Amino acid sequence: MSENLLAEFVSAIPMPALLVDQTERIIAANTDATTMLGKNIETRHFATILRQPQVIDAMEQSLRSKGTTRTRHLANDGAQDTTFEVECRYMNGVGAVSAGAVLATFQDVTHLEQASQMRRDFVANVSHELRTPLTALMGFIETLRGPARDDVAARDRFLQIMTDEASRMNRLVDDLLSLNRVESEERVRPKEQLELIGLLQSIINSLRPLAEDAGVELVLSETHGPVSIVGDSDQLRQVFTNLIENGIKYGGSGGRVDVHATASDRDTAMRGPAVRVQVIDKGPGIDPVHLPRLTERFYRADSHRSRQLGGTGLGLAIVKHIVNRHRGRLRVESDLGKGSVFTVILPR
Ligand code: ADP
Repeated sequence: MSENLLAEFVSAIPMPALLVDQTERIIAANTDATTMLGKNIETRHFATILRQPQVIDAMEQSLRSKGTTRTRHLANDGAQDTTFEVECRYMNGVGAVSAGAVLATFQDVTHLEQASQMRRDFVANVSHELRTPLTALMGFIETLRGPARDDVAARDRFLQIMTDEASRMNRLVDDLLSLNRVESEERVRPKEQLELIGLLQSIINSLRPLAEDAGVELVLSETHGPVSIVGDSDQLRQVFTNLIENGIKYGGSGGRVDVHATASDRDTAMRGPAVRVQVIDKGPGIDPVHLPRLTERFYRADSHRSRQLGGTGLGLAIVKHIVNRHRGRLRVESDLGKGSVFTVILPR
């Protein structure tokens, strides 16, 4: 292969790529490679350019063994880390006196790395969340078998705590399954025609006992009468149940949770007909530092209070995925000391 043809061939590879021949010099490099490793790298010794020891080793080994080697190259453009999978593949008959050369390609695998890191974090979080109630249950079983065996009063108290811990595990598993279902359906558009104000009224009716127990007044108001939308009524029930329950649980000290629905023909956020449902509480509010991360799985603004109230930390993550599936938006505004407003905007 002529040198020109070789350079053309390397430049057509859709990722950073360079060719090193048996003289250990770079004989061709494409633009992606020069952007990453610096200009004028051709004719230079590969070790002065590749620099990272594991990549130099892989190149040396491939030149020596005339085979294929793989390794990782880590780059940082000042803003973020990028991980490349480097493959050094030997090619016969090219390079100086046709003695063979090694083609090194750099495939960006950062997104794969991030996905596997997220999976590891998720497994660690789930295990931690399950272990906490499990440890409590095992502790109480031990106590009931031993010191508290004949203590009737202690037995009843411990059994109540064990019931609470078991329900916490149950809620966690339910929420995990919900999240899984919602995530797997996120790209399937809902098709059901439903009336939103009636749905909100029915949710409020079923949450009224919870609100009364917490001394919270639950009020629905709307400005347009019935609002028809296309959606998934079970999932939207879950969205508004989670938001109103949170309003009662975390914002209940304000004494009142308002659910307010407004429909418009041209919503500014949706640039078309939409309905906005706001869940408004007058509780302690949320520190602004937490707002950007509030919909992440297991993220809690107030961990102590969430655990005390039996929260799983998954409610808002579920809400976000369902709203996404409906091509809607979720907005959270909060003023410390004044309360919070969770707004769901759905297209009509
Ligand atoms: P949890 O199961 O902990 O309630 P969520 O995902 O529903 O999980 O909520 C995440 C966190 O957001 C909660 O732990 C709580 O700290 C905070 N939060 C949610 N809603 C409110 C609210 N209305 N007022 C204050 N904090 C809230």
